[in-house]
Amino acid sequence: MFHAEKHQCRRFEKKVWLSSPTMHGPELTYMKEAYDTNWMSTVGRNVDEVEKLAAEYIGVKYAVALSAGTASLHLAMKLAGIEAYGVPKVGHGCLENKKVFASDVTFDASVNPIVYEGGTPVFIDTERDSWNMDPIALEKAFEIYPDVKIVVLAHLYGTPAKMDELMAVITRHNAILIEDAAESMGATYKGIQTGAFGKFNTVSFNGNKIITGSAGGCFLTNDAEAANKVRKWSTQARENAPWYQHEELGYNYRMSNVIAGVVRGQFPYLREHISRKKVIYERYKEGLKDLPVSMNPIPEECEPNYWLSCILIDNNAMCKQVRGENDVCYVREKGKSCPTEILEALGSINAEGRPIWKPMHMQPIYRVNPFVVCDGNGRARSNAYIKGSAVDVGMDIFDRGLCLPSDNKMTEEEQDRIIEVVKGCFD
Ligand SMILES: *Cc1c(COP(=O)(O)O)cnc(C)c1O
Repeated sequence: MFHAEKHQCRRFEKKVWLSSPTMHGPELTYMKEAYDTNWMSTVGRNVDEVEKLAAEYIGVKYAVALSAGTASLHLAMKLAGIEAYGVPKVGHGCLENKKVFASDVTFDASVNPIVYEGGTPVFIDTERDSWNMDPIALEKAFEIYPDVKIVVLAHLYGTPAKMDELMAVITRHNAILIEDAAESMGATYKGIQTGAFGKFNTVSFNGNKIITGSAGGCFLTNDAEAANKVRKWSTQARENAPWYQHEELGYNYRMSNVIAGVVRGQFPYLREHISRKKVIYERYKEGLKDLPVSMNPIPEECEPNYWLSCILIDNNAMCKQVRGENDVCYVREKGKSCPTEILEALGSINAEGRPIWKPMHMQPIYRVNPFVVCDGNGRARSNAYIKGSAVDVGMDIFDRGLCLPSDNKMTEEEQDRIIEVVKGCFD
């Protein structure tokens, strides 16, 4: 067990968070504007402005402000499902008996909407250059499941996936791409914003994202009809009639004008947040360079938003760590460490780290779902026995990686102390 005192590390009086909201002032002005003008519902100037700002920034024609990124992913999934398979009968999902390809190392909000619509996620393994969906495994997945029509892709921790390679595969197989840019808002791949590649895309304004509304998200598209559908579905799917007339299933997914005030106030600070996160990443990289660890990788031609700084411990510097379903133990070893030890050490000084997202194919809820990996010889496997084995890249990153405290408001002194504590774990 790591001892903070042994390393002469005092606890932070104020917790250093993984990534907490960073407010600037204008948020309150716009919230108050909603209050003062009594536009306290889901209609108003703030909602309009958020949609304008998001569409302009990301470079798409339409943005629809919603209550959460998850709500946007759900409606994106509905649009894709209906486009691929037609309108389902009332009471049925649009993806019943259908498979959808999905990122494996991600937050489960990326993939749950597939199941909301009755579909089955097929998880695609991760590549090591960006920790995102492996284009070779995706190609193999289309060989194994040629009927699949939809791909959901997340950009992990703010680093864009290999879009050229992935788009080539997706286009070749005539599939619909849904981009989950919840973590990567403001990141670019060859100068193009994440959230502008897919047909139906999502950003999130959840409390720990790069900018926040406390909650909220935007649906993004270049398709006017899709944007109109999402606007209609998200406000209970009313028809144009003098009374409440309904031809389609509706949802209560629209963003509140008060929340939109927060998002609107945050938007001008997006660049600043990204610069600050980048400094944090660079300082970790420099501070940890003598340790047997590497930072989360950044491929060429990508500019991440540096949402979270992560490290991966070298194979030969991993002490023994055994993770069960809900608990873990490890054996302390000189010169070595493991994510559990480092997370405990961070906790002991009142700093918040986090394990890498546990791969979806290892989650009890999705354990029976297919998982497609590439074994390094370009051969794909889709087998239960492969799960957790040497060719399972996602599981390897989960085993050896962790997210470091990446809060914008962390001071240099605080970060230096965190760096010392990480170093201490390898003593
Ligand atoms: C945060 C997040 C979401 C969900 O966004 P909410 O706004 O919290 O609903 C979806 N996907 C990923 C990858 C996320 O990190």
